Amino acid sequence: MGSVRWSGIISAYREFLPVGVDSPIVTLNEGNTPLIPAPAVSREIGPQVDVYLKFEGLNPTGSFKDRGMTMAVTKAVEEGSSAVMCASTGNTSASAAAYAARAGMNCIVIIPDGNIALGKLAQALLHGAKVFAVAGNFDDALRIVREVTAKYKITLVNSINPYRLEGQKTGAFEICDVLGEAPQYHFIPVGNAGNITAYWRGYKEYYAKGLVSGLPKMMGFQAEGAAPIVRGHVVEKPETLATAIRIGNPASWKLAEAARDESGGVIDMVSDEEIVEAYRFLAQSEGVFCEPASAASVAGLLKYARQGFFTRHHPVTVGPHATSGKVRIVCVLTGHGLKDPKNAIEFSPKPISVPANVEAILEHVALEER
Ligand SMILES: *Cc1c(COP(=O)(O)O)cnc(C)c1O
Repeated sequence: MGSVRWSGIISAYREFLPVGVDSPIVTLNEGNTPLIPAPAVSREIGPQVDVYLKFEGLNPTGSFKDRGMTMAVTKAVEEGSSAVMCASTGNTSASAAAYAARAGMNCIVIIPDGNIALGKLAQALLHGAKVFAVAGNFDDALRIVREVTAKYKITLVNSINPYRLEGQKTGAFEICDVLGEAPQYHFIPVGNAGNITAYWRGYKEYYAKGLVSGLPKMMGFQAEGAAPIVRGHVVEKPETLATAIRIGNPASWKLAEAARDESGGVIDMVSDEEIVEAYRFLAQSEGVFCEPASAASVAGLLKYARQGFFTRHHPVTVGPHATSGKVRIVCVLTGHGLKDPKNAIEFSPKPISVPANVEAILEHVALEER
């Protein structure tokens, strides 16, 4: 992008978005998140690949939901709405609450009681949303929001709001702008399935404009206990520690399948153990702290790599038998690790309690004298 100062995804990608010159843009300067090379993940897979992490945790409220929310709230204001409402596994409510506060609107959020990460709840509350914790799961919460917003004057800002996906597709634009091309593979967690749909749309729009010469295969990953698309039926009681993708009946189910089929990709699943392994690996070997649901993308990548996917589909590309350049793989890390301190602590060694002296420390670490 040529702009000197970044002022959010709407001003950066205006010509791709349904906004006019008079649209009252509500922004927190979201987007422009880093595409971080992942040498440790790449090493796990082999010399034929270059893996990058699109770290969406660095958006203003700590998740990719901000890309969609700047659009949804801007259009709500433009249409004269004075309140927004959403169901949420956490990040949508944090984002809706922040953008509503920014716009001076009221915000109502419905969350599944007890299954939302602490950081996300704190955000919704401090931004001043009216928060209802329902005795049910995300799918119950979304059903209530659909009913209320159909009948009463309040704007629904879940990803079934079409402006959400419009904003979220800009993540694909940024990846292409940085790489100068689309990657060959795009790994992404799948919950309500809006984001995989949005990224695929973004890649296709750049391709249609001739800004990239190829398209990625879309590689979506659900959690094993919440994998309705993989299993081919609604999951009544979805279960996973990755609460952001704990969804049994995705709103964008059909669109996600279309993204998979059109791109020649897959939608598959990973276990909670595989998610935690990737979560810890990213933190300890790449220095990148994402939330558990985000690690599903990298968990899927590592699982496929171990099954030989990249050697089967791509002949060796370096060394004496090299045939082409490296395979470029992007994994989206959808949310920041600080969202979910409880899981971070649960899966880490505990602090060691010691008396306040040097000897006590030296009992636990071997240090060489100067
Ligand atoms: C919302 C969310 C997801 C799932 O995205 P969908 O568009 O619902 O598929 C994944 N990870 C995080 C951190 C999220 O907040």
